[in-house]
Amino acid sequence: MKNKSRSTKQRFVSQLAFDDRRVGAAAVYCSDGRYGEQMDEFLHVGLGLPRYDRVALPGGAACLAGHLVKAYYDKVALERQLEFLISAHSLTRVVLIAHQGCGFYKDVWTNGASVEQQQMDDLRAAAKLIATSNRQVAVETYFARRVDGKVLFEPWGSEAPAASSEVATQSLG
Ligand SMILES: [Zn+2]
Repeated sequence: MKNKSRSTKQRFVSQLAFDDRRVGAAAVYCSDGRYGEQMDEFLHVGLGLPRYDRVALPGGAACLAGHLVKAYYDKVALERQLEFLISAHSLTRVVLIAHQGCGFYKDVWTNGASVEQQQMDDLRAAAKLIATSNRQVAVETYFARRVDGKVLFEPWGSEAPAASSEVATQSLG
């Protein structure tokens, strides 16, 4: 049977023009491809962040919470990647997005809490960690929920840059 997919030897030109202006923002979310297009639309249209820097890994920023033994190396790697992006691209805004039914949490011990509550705790811890170690960066958290065959993005809180306001760092939640 003939393979319908495009030959890897054929060249392809994207019809989208290249724009080299950076927007000073990155988003960290789960690799789950079923949410990819909606994540892009939310960040591009909902938050007004075209060309944001993407950091996709299983479970998104969950590993930064630090309680997941299985994610220790992910945490070290993600911290290094964010550090690089924040300094090399002069980022001032980092967006963390968790999603409903995330496979990463399948075997995570939540001590009786719901997976969603655990995800919320983890995103808060991750946001705090990023904001504390990068004082010029504001961190926002969101949850992607499936509603009527679509994806709804709920704000879960934010961490203001510590440099601009010491008090505001407590505002999460
Ligand atoms: Zn996931």
